[in-house]
Amino acid sequence: MISEFDIIHRYFSRPAPGAVLGVGDDAALIKPAAGVELAISTDMLVSGQHFLADVDPHKLGHKSLAVNLSDMAAMGAKPRWATLSLALPESMVHTGDKWLKAFADGFFELAHAHSVELIGGDTTRGPLNICVTIIGEVAKGKALRRDGARPGDDIWISGHLGDAALALAHVQRRITLEPGEIAACLPVLLTPAARVELGQRLIGLADSAIDISDGLLADLGHILKSSKVAGVIRMNEIACSASMKKYLPQTLAIECLLAGGDDYELCFTAPRETRGGIEILAREQLVPLSRIGRIGEGEGLVVLDAAGKTVTLETKGYDHFRT
Ligand code: ADP
Ligand code: MG
Repeated sequence: MISEFDIIHRYFSRPAPGAVLGVGDDAALIKPAAGVELAISTDMLVSGQHFLADVDPHKLGHKSLAVNLSDMAAMGAKPRWATLSLALPESMVHTGDKWLKAFADGFFELAHAHSVELIGGDTTRGPLNICVTIIGEVAKGKALRRDGARPGDDIWISGHLGDAALALAHVQRRITLEPGEIAACLPVLLTPAARVELGQRLIGLADSAIDISDGLLADLGHILKSSKVAGVIRMNEIACSASMKKYLPQTLAIECLLAGGDDYELCFTAPRETRGGIEILAREQLVPLSRIGRIGEGEGLVVLDAAGKTVTLETKGYDHFRT
């Protein structure tokens, strides 16, 4: 029977030349570069809550790191190191190493792509639960915080919104997507890309940023609340995929667009003067960046439809503790 230490040694011990000391001691040691602050964030993925137990382990390995990279992107930080804490049921350890190998491959492929080093973690038996902590570097005082939005700022989003939620609605049989739509939307749900490079490039342009993990309304709401400002957005300015466009008159699609989680795109605010710079950035990064509204004085968020009428929604976004 494979031991805890075999698992760590076989799957999760890799060289970490960017750390002073990596996996294997009581703690890892890192030395941040001069003039930077460390950005630290943790995200936990729980079986049955964030994914189904039979999900492809390679994709799960990717996603467990991607959601953390997205938090670094939202701060404008460069991700450098990560720790990985795993609770594993017996069944996943005894698949003749298939499950663990695929999970580790998915995790490390994305880690290598972003030069992130795994420097520690914890491994225990239990219901499948994956907790990643990520550590990044950002120039002193420059991080993109939620409390930086100012009246007059434009509100922007990256990429397309709602595809992950559409895919989830399909998986949960609340909607039936065509095969081509499934092929387009499901990867957004299962293997999201984090806008890591974009986040770092927004420093100097944006006043505030957040990543969209719980839905646009909820996440933009956090910026408004922290910054003590109000916002107006125009629904028809939100960039969306061909699949989303097709379903958009339906309430379910509007909910996916405005309140669907799991897209891991960025929502940011920036002064009007930076519009040109942001448009250049969109072309350089090959990411659509759309200007969807404006920050104002006061509080609250108003969503307008194409006719200028206020859109109201039952759900505002994902909240684990709401019943
Ligand atoms: P301790 O008994 O001090 O908690 P452990 O035996 O849990 O140490 O872990 C031994 C080493 O392996 C530590 O350096 C720890 O950070 C690392 N480690 C444990 N689990 C993982 C994992 N899933 N991924 C990466 N490193 C891990
Ligand atoms: Mg331990």
